[in-house]
Amino acid sequence: MQIEKNKVATIEYTLKNNDGDVLDTSEGNDPMTYIQGIGNLIPGLEDALAGKGVGDEVQVTIPPEKAYGLPDAELVQVVERNVFQGVDDLQVGMQFQAQSDQGTQVIWITDIEGDQVTIDGNHPLAGETLNFDVKVVDVRDASAEELDHGHVHGPGGHQH
Ligand code: ZN
Repeated sequence: MQIEKNKVATIEYTLKNNDGDVLDTSEGNDPMTYIQGIGNLIPGLEDALAGKGVGDEVQVTIPPEKAYGLPDAELVQVVERNVFQGVDDLQVGMQFQAQSDQGTQVIWITDIEGDQVTIDGNHPLAGETLNFDVKVVDVRDASAEELDHGHVHGPGGHQH
């Protein structure tokens, strides 16, 4: 069976930036499962995995445009520290969920100068070229329920 739209694929992967630093890996963890073709993965990785089968190994370099996009300067803002009332030890690198008119958004604190806090709503990997090493370990049909929910059930997926 090959990876195509609405198949559940299980993959082992290692993600590196262009400096060769490992940003993420399934090594030492369970492999990742996802449903092809419904936006579970970044477009560049789905493109690279389409048509692959169990045992296939893929090396792919994905430009930001087909990964997490380019950084948007409008998503970077400086706010007053008192916006974070109730947070005891505010630090660079902290992550918060913010409500906006586009739904829930994850923001990061990227700088703190006195009472001025810089927040960034870009994905941490925005602007990065991503280098994936992937091995396909399983491919199966998605169930109607999985397609309905938009995520994988069972091992490596949602348990409910
Ligand atoms: Zn579900």
